Amino acid sequence: MPDFHAAADAIPALPGAYVLAIILDAPMAGLPAGRYLYCGSARGPGGLRARLGRHMRKGKAVRWHVDRLTEAGWVLGAWVFPDQSECDLVAQLARLPVPLPGFGSSDCRVCPSHLLAWPAGVALPWEDKP
Ligand SMILES: [Zn+2]
Repeated sequence: MPDFHAAADAIPALPGAYVLAIILDAPMAGLPAGRYLYCGSARGPGGLRARLGRHMRKGKAVRWHVDRLTEAGWVLGAWVFPDQSECDLVAQLARLPVPLPGFGSSDCRVCPSHLLAWPAGVALPWEDKP
């Protein structure tokens, strides 16, 4: 079971992958309002803690495609997966709809998108079954 973090403080400063949960209250850039999951990885200095701290901070310069979502919407938090790759996480979430093909995955030849829609009532593979 991966850990879920609503804030970056307790996230390990390790390299790895993460699934960021984002809510859009209003449509934006071709995406309808709703819940989204973005799969990313952090391999640089500060690892997962630094990258997720950036995602969770408002007012950053828009550098990546996903920055537009985290600025316009709300970041609920993230599940972290040290030593894993974001493409493996996308594969685990393959039953979720792809809202915009190619989002965040322009360097990736495997995934249809690194952003997935997360419709209400859909459990994630690592969540407890009711
Ligand atoms: Zn990928």
